[in-house]
Amino acid sequence: MGRAGIAILLCSAIAGMISGFVAVFLLPMLPISSGIVLALAASFALAAIVAGCIAPVLLSTGRDVIRLENQIEEAIDSGSQVTLHCGPWLRPLADALTQVQSRWTEKVLKLNTRLRELEIRHRLIEAERDHAETILNSLHDAVLVTDSFNEISLTNHRAAELLGFDTSTAARRPIDEVVHDPRIRELIKEIRSSGVVTRQKHVEHAMESNGEAGGRTSTFDVTLAALSDGQSGVGGVVTILRDITKEREISQLKSDFVSQASHELRTPLSSINAYVEMLIDSEAQDEASRQEFYQIIKSESDRVSRMIDNMLNISRIEAGIVSVDRTDCDFVKICNEVIETMQPQAAAKDIMLSMKSGPLVYTADADRDMMHQVVMNLVSNAIKYTPEGGRVTISVENDDTTRSVMVTVADTGLGIPPDALPRLFEKFYRIENYKRVAKGTGLGLNLVKHIVETVHHGTITVTSELGMGSKFSFTIPYEDPTSR
Ligand code: ADP
Repeated sequence: MGRAGIAILLCSAIAGMISGFVAVFLLPMLPISSGIVLALAASFALAAIVAGCIAPVLLSTGRDVIRLENQIEEAIDSGSQVTLHCGPWLRPLADALTQVQSRWTEKVLKLNTRLRELEIRHRLIEAERDHAETILNSLHDAVLVTDSFNEISLTNHRAAELLGFDTSTAARRPIDEVVHDPRIRELIKEIRSSGVVTRQKHVEHAMESNGEAGGRTSTFDVTLAALSDGQSGVGGVVTILRDITKEREISQLKSDFVSQASHELRTPLSSINAYVEMLIDSEAQDEASRQEFYQIIKSESDRVSRMIDNMLNISRIEAGIVSVDRTDCDFVKICNEVIETMQPQAAAKDIMLSMKSGPLVYTADADRDMMHQVVMNLVSNAIKYTPEGGRVTISVENDDTTRSVMVTVADTGLGIPPDALPRLFEKFYRIENYKRVAKGTGLGLNLVKHIVETVHHGTITVTSELGMGSKFSFTIPYEDPTSR
């Protein structure tokens, strides 16, 4: 009920009162028959009574309607249940409105609870997604998950780095736009189109590491698995790329090593076999020839056993299972012992074997037997590849810049051709032309390098001038850096 309604009610009340006044006071003064006057007066009086009675009722109802309207507005604004107060005329309406209001309040409450639940669920999903992404990003393998629209739904940094895309923009983009490698795209499509959820596939695939031409080629083990769409079809595909380049290289190295080792062992063994057969066939007529054959068999079998020892030592070091007995090693003493052992061989070739050292050479934390073997191998090589009348000099000094003991074995021998220098420490590498000069295994320098660098964290270097001689230097830290 608006203000206009109230005004009309007021007017009708006033009109009623005026008609009552007219009927009672003015009509008797008019010159009309008393019967008509009486009738008019009665009707005016009745109108006045009726208007006078109804007007207050209408007025109070109008006020109630306004109050009700205000209370409903207040209830809407506050959003809570409000008890509606009004006069008896509007009570049924107020009760009906209260009921409607309580039902709506109940509905709103339910919807609010549902909304809160959805918010919590949304936050949980987001947290789970972040968690899954953190786990995926900590993996070294590349992971790529596509959905039923063949769009990227989940991936990790390693996949982005490998396949050359940006993780921040890849989500919800078609795989064909994001992944440039055609083979990976093809494999994913194949798994999707197979329609078998339990399907898993392993494929070995070589590709450029950064997904674009020009990068380093690496070998990957690609695992593809189909994801269910919730019914019986394929919803998406999980693709995992594991870099197996190193494993492949190692297995290649192993098979190379086995074939080289068997080749190298076959030479002395066939020589032993040949001399034994000649002895069996009595081809050595006299004692001198027989002694010569025995000597050859002895030296070849020594070579075989040296080769096997070296191979075992190298593989123990490479596998990290060598036992190292570290003590304070006096390198001057070790070098003097080697000189004493090798002196007869040097003398046989008229080679001057000598040693020089500083006034005070520190000790180093190292395995004594291994150090002895390193110096022995270098001195033995120096004598082998130095012609008669040459010189082999060992020097021991402190290298304070690297806090190491430095041992140098220098000879005035054949020297090493520049193209052979980078390959000198490889397993079984021997300079072709020197094979006639001396017998060897081609494993000595590789073992030396492993003992110095892998076991003792030192360094080994070689400098040489063809025809002028060679200089091998190695350093061993005073203290083992890994024990600090
Ligand atoms: P080997 O048993 O054949 O001596 P090493 O591994 O000790 O095996 O040496 C590898 C090769 O390096 C040798 O076969 C030889 O050709 C070359 N070499 C090593 N030391 C010297 C040296 N002091 N002078 C010249 N050549 C050397």
